[in-house]
Amino acid sequence: METDYSRIKQLHHLIETKTATKLSGPYKVGVDLGTADVVLVVTDNEGNPVAGSMRWASVVRDGLVVDFRGATSIVEELKDEVEQLIGVKLEKGATAVPPGTVGRNALACGHVIAGAGIEPVSQVDEPVAAAKALNIDHGIVVDIGGGTTGIAVLKNGDLAFTADEPTGGTHISLVLSGAYNIPFAEAEHMKRDESQHRKIMPVIFPVVEKMATIVKDMLAGHREYHDYPVYVVGGTAYLQDFETHFSKAFGRRVHVPPHPLLVTPLGIAMFG
Ligand code: ATP
Repeated sequence: METDYSRIKQLHHLIETKTATKLSGPYKVGVDLGTADVVLVVTDNEGNPVAGSMRWASVVRDGLVVDFRGATSIVEELKDEVEQLIGVKLEKGATAVPPGTVGRNALACGHVIAGAGIEPVSQVDEPVAAAKALNIDHGIVVDIGGGTTGIAVLKNGDLAFTADEPTGGTHISLVLSGAYNIPFAEAEHMKRDESQHRKIMPVIFPVVEKMATIVKDMLAGHREYHDYPVYVVGGTAYLQDFETHFSKAFGRRVHVPPHPLLVTPLGIAMFG
């Protein structure tokens, strides 16, 4: 069965054009506090995108909030922007963390959105949120963000397995920074410039291979999932031909949805 990506495409359009869809409430709100960016998404009660906004930011490292005040003020800004677009106050919302985040680290995201005036109502594992946005009840979701690679296995609609490793797009930028002897910020910029992707792929392919090996190792003891469809989301999957390169290194065909960075944020809102 073809996966329906229309909601993800619609969310991308709304964020790019800074517009909102006229849909009636009650609304659901999700905030994705990531290593590389912060995204706030509003959906209607059925999970259809209403509006969204995002900022590149370094307030989280390896899934942990490292700049609490910075994170709170970005969420406040995004909240203000979206409230003006839709003309409704955002009062409650969901957050997400990489699987396996525990203790005070697990509480930090909720505190950040509370500090920005959004009462935290739920917190999910990031790849579980992605699975919700993709409407998958049987399959493997791999979320490769800035700092982490997480997976969630869905079996008959239930969460069967999750795992997470601190390797993500940041590590690709670090490799580029070393290879071209340029500052990290410049390497990040280079990596996000699609016209550079063909040139940089040979340099960064070993990191993509490493990510595929991480996922293979996570699934090593679970032969029962060998025929589950695999979806790769997260900003790192924007790299040109990522689907082909990752599939080759992983030894199984994977699917990359359009706008892979927005899949998890959309799913988080659906839990709001
Ligand atoms: P995490 O979930 O690990 O905390 P995050 O939520 O910030 O991180 P995402 O927003 O899914 O993760 O992805 C961010 C990563 O995607 C960054 O490393 C960023 O450089 C990378 N990225 C974003 N756009 C592109 C692009 N066009 N090409 C390549 N990489 C990209």
